[in-house]
Amino acid sequence: MTYATNLRCRECHREYPLEARHVCDFCFGPVEVTYDYDAIRRNITRQRIESGPASLWRYSDFLPCDRETAVDIGAGFTPLIRALRAVMLEGATLWSQAVPIAILLAYATVTFTLALKLFRWQ
Ligand SMILES: [Zn+2]
Repeated sequence: MTYATNLRCRECHREYPLEARHVCDFCFGPVEVTYDYDAIRRNITRQRIESGPASLWRYSDFLPCDRETAVDIGAGFTPLIRALRAVMLEGATLWSQAVPIAILLAYATVTFTLALKLFRWQ
């Protein structure tokens, strides 16, 4: 169940149903998700969020979409983000994060090589 109620234009405050939309039809202002904060206060706890899956869907109560019809590609909680956060915020060395960086480099090399072959760049 999502606690998102609708979309609201940040500029003119017109409201729209939850749908794939990023700007207002009338003023081209950005639209933002609005929530039922009373229901969130009553039903959502930190423990409930932490007990969710290790993916983006842990926050499905706050996403403006239907969880049952969504496509899950396992986004979120990647080791690379943890590695970058450790280097930037916690003073870890790049060498201590060698495994996630090596995985990223291998992934980039493979996808670049495949792109060269598939798109016949010369
Ligand atoms: Zn507007």
